[in-house]
Amino acid sequence: MSLRLFAAIRPPDELCERLAGLQRGVPGARWRPPDNLHITLRFFGEQDVHVAEALDIELARIRATGFDLQLKGAGWFGASEPSTLWLGVAESPQLEKLAADCDKAARRLGLAPDGRKFTPHLTVAYLRGTQPDDCARFVRRLAMFASEPFLVDRFALYSSHLGKRASDYRAEAEYPLLG
Ligand code: ATP
Ligand code: MG
Repeated sequence: MSLRLFAAIRPPDELCERLAGLQRGVPGARWRPPDNLHITLRFFGEQDVHVAEALDIELARIRATGFDLQLKGAGWFGASEPSTLWLGVAESPQLEKLAADCDKAARRLGLAPDGRKFTPHLTVAYLRGTQPDDCARFVRRLAMFASEPFLVDRFALYSSHLGKRASDYRAEAEYPLLG
């Protein structure tokens, strides 16, 4: 049996609910429901349950203190063929470090390297047929956007269950950060 796994930070529910108010005005956008919003630290892909257990042990060994994080601005992936619309994250060395620690955990188990540079973001929509101009308009509209800072006091290992509609994510394990 295998699971599609990733490590992520989940912003507070109230903040995710409020972000729904920003999710409008982009043709071809399939907006993510509040429950799905997260900041991915490391995508692990399809893994055997034994690897999942080993990963859980490695992630639980990460020692980090809690930190404040803030969503800021917006952007998109896919350049001239936009695929993903996201909110950005204000610069955070602690976030970079936590993502690097999750990557190290994966590499200790011999998982394939991620390949891409870590670009912290919170995906708000997947796009189909959306023009770069539409994305640019959304990004301009959110240029001054900044959420209130929120405390990251844990991260989690999620399994992703791809469905016809929005994927369903399940927290398999939670890792508290030090107070
Ligand atoms: P769906 O694929 O059904 O549209 P999804 O992309 O939200 O939904 P997953 O593909 O399981 O679900 O991805 C889970 C998380 O991992 C998402 O945040 C996604 O952006 C991220 N992710 C997926 N694939 C990669 C990858 N190859 N590299 C980095 N992050 C990835
Ligand atoms: Mg995907």
